[in-house]
Formats: sequence, structure tokens, C-alpha cells
Amino acid sequence: MKGNHRPGCNPDANRFGLDYRAEARRLGPPAVPIIDAHAHIQGDRAAEVWKEAASLYGICEVWSMTPLSQVAEVRQVLGDMVRFIAIHNWHNPDRAYAWRDGFLEDISVFHRQHGARIVKLWAAPRLRELMDPVADADVVNLDGAWRRRVADLAASLGMAIMTHVADPDTWFATRYSDASRFLTKSEHYLPLERMLDDYPVTWIAAHMGGWPENLPALSGLLERHPNLHLDASATKWMVREISRHPRQEVLDFMERWRGRVFFGSDIVTTNDHLRADDKLPSYAGHLAAGHEEAFELYASRYWALRTLWETAYVGESPIADPDLAMLDPARFAPTDAPELAGKALPRDLLATVYAGAARAASIW
Ligand SMILES: [Zn+2]
Repeated sequence: MKGNHRPGCNPDANRFGLDYRAEARRLGPPAVPIIDAHAHIQGDRAAEVWKEAASLYGICEVWSMTPLSQVAEVRQVLGDMVRFIAIHNWHNPDRAYAWRDGFLEDISVFHRQHGARIVKLWAAPRLRELMDPVADADVVNLDGAWRRRVADLAASLGMAIMTHVADPDTWFATRYSDASRFLTKSEHYLPLERMLDDYPVTWIAAHMGGWPENLPALSGLLERHPNLHLDASATKWMVREISRHPRQEVLDFMERWRGRVFFGSDIVTTNDHLRADDKLPSYAGHLAAGHEEAFELYASRYWALRTLWETAYVGESPIADPDLAMLDPARFAPTDAPELAGKALPRDLLATVYAGAARAASIW
């Protein structure tokens, strides 16, 4: 495929110039309409663009971490297609409040007014840069005192908990190499395991529990904690690391944990993507400039994930993965991409991963 196509209008999301509308028709409908259990839909116009891409690739429902201030406009565009996950207010400059009392208040509004049934406890290592690991230990540690107050409220409202623990191995080897600040990767799982025991509600650990590189470690977690589920979101990360495992290992893992792994994309949409101006200040704004670039950005994620799970495609991913250059700048450029090795899961297993598992969890 490489070299036979011109780059798309969004080269980072479409290195080969695929026509993502034609590709969706070529893939055909998925085994069952797909539930995307992990996305961040923001912005009314961006939600429209996402809706076109999602509908083309057979997504029927999305569980979205939308800022409370944008929930109404996203609901307006997506209607019954969207379910909301309660998140803390990232935009409040008073972080101490937003992560503590403010979060409790926001969860109540999310739950009462918008039908939210999941609370997100974000605990990525990067939180150790955003807050003081000592002074803010009650929030920085997933089992800290304020995390428990949030979990208490979630449990009292009958809500599930989604969490983000750890990050790619590539990040621990580079930006998180200072273990005195960021801890080792394994250390991030100790508070998670305590919380899984202390709060016997439904849990979803995002991004294959943060450890798609290590399926045996995930099996250990799933074995020890029957209330734990994983979502397979974060497209570049999943494409890179799931591709590396032999097909049989992935198949055995997904069969063994049938019903415990949900499909997800981690697509982030924002109206900033629609501005035809590539000099936006925000990180997200750099990913797309204009309607077609945004469409390719969103569609590329569903193309790559469906190609990974349901086909036997072997070739470079159409999505640039800067982690390759971060780890090995002598070998890779930030626009390079890893091999995408499709796992061709059987159709009945795909049906479980795409929707059955998420439905069976009876969260909504
Ligand atoms: Zn996410």
C-alpha cells in the first residue's frame, strides 16, 4: 500500500491517501453495530463530523467524556447515540476544587441531569506533574482520601468507575524515566488493585488497563478482580502493541476474557479541529485544520481499529505514531508508523467485543 497513494489531506491520519468513505464501504458493516465505550466528544460541529465518520464505520453508540459545559450541545447533535461519563472540570483553574468538592458536585449534575452512569477516575502518571505528589496525595494516588470520597459517591449512586492507570511502556522508557517522580509502571497497579477490592462496583480500566504490552499481567488483574473490565481504546497505542503479539495469543486472551473487554477508540473531537488554521495553541488543535482533516482524523481511528480486530491486513498503519521517534529518534521520524497486523477475530467474538460485552455489563 505504501507508495501507491498520495497522502490524504491530513497526512498524520492518512499517510497513504486512503478514501476513508470508500474504505468504510469496502469493510462493510461490522459483525454487530459497535459501541465505542471510550471517546471524548466535544464541540457541536465536531460532533457532526464525528457522527458521519462513526456512522460510516458502524458505530451505533458512544460513551463520551464530554465537559459538563458542552454536554447539552453534544446531546443536541448526537441524541440517543451518546451516553455521558462524568469527568472532573479540566478547565477550572482552581484545580484543588475541581478535583475535590467540585468533582462531587459535577458528578451529581452529570448523574441527575444527563443520565451519566460512569465516573472517570483519571490517574495517569502525568498527574504527578499537574499536582504535587505529596501535598495532593489525596488525589494523586488512586486510593487517596479524595479519590475514595469520589468512589463513595459513585458507589452510592450505583455508578460504574472508569479509570486510566499507567501509560505506554514507551513513555515509561522516556518521559517517565524518573521513577522517583512518576513511579515504575508496576507501582501504578497497587492502588488500583486496592480500589478494585474496596469498591466492588463495575470498573473499566481504559486502554487495555494501560498495559496492552503485557497480556499476562492483564490476565492476572482480570483473574484477581471479577469486577474489572478493560476498554481497548487509544488507537495508536493499540495498533502498535496489539499488532506485536502473535495472533493466537491475542485470540486466546480475548476468548479467555470474553465479555470483559470493550471496544473503544479514545477519539477526541473539538471544534478547534474545524478551524482552517494550523497555528492553534492547543495540543488538540494541531491534529486537524478544517472539516476534511477532522473527518480523516476521526475516520482513521475506526479504520485502524476495525482493520486490527477483524481483518488479516499486515502493513504499515496509515496513522503516524510519534512514539516510535520518541523511543528511537535515530531510526524513526515522527511521521513514521508501526506495522498494523490484523488479528482477524472470529465473527462471534467480534460481536462480543464490539457490543455484547458492553451491553452485558448493564451499566446504563
Ligand atoms: Zn480517553
